[in-house]
Amino acid sequence: MPEALKPSPLQSNLQHLTDDIGGRVPGTPAMEQAIEWAQEAFRAAGGENVHTEKFQIPQSWAEGQTRFSVQSPLELSLHAVSVGWAPPLEPLRHVHIVDVKDGTGDDFLQAGNIAGSIVLVHGKVIQTWDDLDGEYNRVPPILQSAVRGRAAAIVWIAERDRDLLYRHTDTQTGELEPISQVIVAREEGLRIARLLNSGRQVYANLEVPNQVGGPLTTANVVAEIRGSEHPEQFVVLGAHLDSWELGTGALDNGCNAAMVIDALRAIRASGVQPKRTLRFVLFSGEEQGLLGSEAYAREHRPELDNALAAVIFDSGSGRVTGFTLSGRTDLAGAARVLMAPLQQMGVTAVTQDADMGTDNFDFLLEGVPTLVANQDPANYMQNYHAMSDTFDKVDLGNLRKEVAEAATVVVGIANAPQRFGTRQDRTQVKQLLRDTHLEDTMKLNGVWTAWESGQRGRTR
Ligand SMILES: [Zn+2]
Repeated sequence: MPEALKPSPLQSNLQHLTDDIGGRVPGTPAMEQAIEWAQEAFRAAGGENVHTEKFQIPQSWAEGQTRFSVQSPLELSLHAVSVGWAPPLEPLRHVHIVDVKDGTGDDFLQAGNIAGSIVLVHGKVIQTWDDLDGEYNRVPPILQSAVRGRAAAIVWIAERDRDLLYRHTDTQTGELEPISQVIVAREEGLRIARLLNSGRQVYANLEVPNQVGGPLTTANVVAEIRGSEHPEQFVVLGAHLDSWELGTGALDNGCNAAMVIDALRAIRASGVQPKRTLRFVLFSGEEQGLLGSEAYAREHRPELDNALAAVIFDSGSGRVTGFTLSGRTDLAGAARVLMAPLQQMGVTAVTQDADMGTDNFDFLLEGVPTLVANQDPANYMQNYHAMSDTFDKVDLGNLRKEVAEAATVVVGIANAPQRFGTRQDRTQVKQLLRDTHLEDTMKLNGVWTAWESGQRGRTR
């Protein structure tokens, strides 16, 4: 812990990753640069066996010149961006906007005929982790309703305020979304809604000339500290290196990528020798549906009996309050022992909440114990996936503490007298998915069939 808290390259690493390299969408030169740089940074930190592991994302995607304007009853030029991995759109001229409120089944019924129209969907400004989950989970049924009603496009009213734009995607596979969509600045979207609600017809032009292409190759970046007694057994410390690109992916998740690199450095500098191998993994393709960690779990399936745990950080730089075991109640005792040295830093809570929000998910499906850091939201929601997610938002003091916390946890697992926990078999994983309601989330997001068919997750 003292090594972690000392002056280190943590800040300059993060500054380079965000300011010099910038937003990191897989398939772009920035992400390629980040992958190159991360290997150098791991080597400089003292990593062994530094390498990349390539995988493919089915479609490449880049935003074109998105243009959205109201033509009547008055002319308004609006601020809008395409949703990630949304298909391009033939330019729409003088098309009717229909307000579908919150986009529930009833709302769409009330709206009536939406064929060929732009549908305007409302949403609230997100403030909590639950709000953020809601921002994703409400989307699939709305997409279905819009497609079924043959809408021309969806306009989402931004869920950040003060004209702030952001981008993400709801595809879980790296394939294109089923319909063209843009996010419009909140204040402008609300103004359109008021025009409509005052009984006027609103007509708009919309251009979304996104560039889409075939499969792209990207890579996870891996480094190790080899174990002295059981090198074949390993603990993963992971964070995703990729990000959206309107901002520079500082809170999500550049800060924790830099943290993982610095945890390696701190452990090396401390002289502590792990008995089992520590594996530091920076994933790509997280934002397109956890694609890097999915690929990692699939490629490493033959050695996952030797995976003791996957420890993941992906919640900005707010204070760490504890870890979620995502439904593995059998691990709670061992987790408390592990966290005992972190009490002084306020890391005390063991929780069991589970979602599909980050890179532990495919390890969980493979039966591997996972720990995901729970953190105070701090300034995460205001800047989530937005233009404002930049270096200046990161709490560097807290991030340095995270280095100490992450290093302590993974060394604790690597050097414990006994295995941290067992690997679950398929029956146990299936029960966990039911108990945590992850089953419902997976069905909602269209990934249940991949688990059921054995394409994703533990097969026996
Ligand atoms: Zn993230």
